[in-house]
Amino acid sequence: MVPPISVRLKLKKINKFMSTTIIDGKEVACKIREKLAEEIAELKALGKTPGLAVVLVGEDPASQVYVGSKVRACEELGLYSQKWELPADTTQEQLVELIHQLNADERIHGILVQSPPPAHIDEEAVILNIDPRKDVDGFHPANVAKLVLEDEEGFVPCTPLGCMELLKAYGISTAGKHAVVIGRSMIVGKPMANLLVSKKANATVTIAHSRTADLPGLCRTADIIVAAVGRPEMVNADYVKEGAVVLDVGINRIADSSRPRGYRIVGDVDYEAVKDKCSAITPVPGGVGPMTIAMLMANTVKACRQLTR
Ligand code: NAD
Repeated sequence: MVPPISVRLKLKKINKFMSTTIIDGKEVACKIREKLAEEIAELKALGKTPGLAVVLVGEDPASQVYVGSKVRACEELGLYSQKWELPADTTQEQLVELIHQLNADERIHGILVQSPPPAHIDEEAVILNIDPRKDVDGFHPANVAKLVLEDEEGFVPCTPLGCMELLKAYGISTAGKHAVVIGRSMIVGKPMANLLVSKKANATVTIAHSRTADLPGLCRTADIIVAAVGRPEMVNADYVKEGAVVLDVGINRIADSSRPRGYRIVGDVDYEAVKDKCSAITPVPGGVGPMTIAMLMANTVKACRQLTR
């Protein structure tokens, strides 16, 4: 039954004043870090200091920035950290030898090899050498299996884990919702889909990728869209149904001569075009991005607890 015109006008008015929730990843990450700082202090009082080793091979500038941020986060939280910066011509064998050394180091509970390594390094083979109990990136097949099996002892990749924390922090329920995850990488898309479909989250999940037919049409059926594509501002208003929740994982540099660095960072979502249609959305920067390092710290604390109990 169509409601009378007076009711429809009232509803229109309410909708007009219903504002979009801008999901503040910086604030949520900050709260998580505060809580972690307390946990770390408790562990330290027991003589246990969580330790993270970050390994960078080569001089990729973006990787150097990421590694720097991770080590700084450790220092701010009082974690023990080791930063290994290896030359670009480091061999696979040398890198694996270092991993074995870190596996045996009792001060180290988390090991992270910054991705992507130089082309001559087989990243998957390197990951296989990391002790799964120290694999705080959640890339080892043993941890991939634990995620699928919903075994909470495993490690889940930090970015999708951060997305789930954002939904939780804003009280956004996923149960019974249709979530479309755009992207099928092992770092974001697939673990994100697994988290959403888990018995904890209970979403109905569709994974979309570069060969998906009518992606905008599919996305318009979504209550929740997670964009992890790596294509600047691809998800526009045509992809989003009124009231959907949009999590933008993308970090893309686009040329901008008005900026001191000559570029700016945008997501995979055309934020301005989409935001008024959404019930909630993450901005870029300041949405999903800040959560990744917070979750890395959380995974390191978890690894320390599990290895020292
Ligand atoms: P990836 O390149 O490994 O995967 C991209 C996925 O997008 C692929 O599965 C591909 O099938 C899909 N895709 C490509 N073009 C498509 C199209 N036209 N339509 C539909 N799907 C398409 O990338 P990734 O490592 O998963 O990262 C995705 C994005 O997230 C990047 O922008 C990356 O920088 C960003 N990222 C951010 C964080 C963070 O901390 N916020 C962490 C990891 C990645």
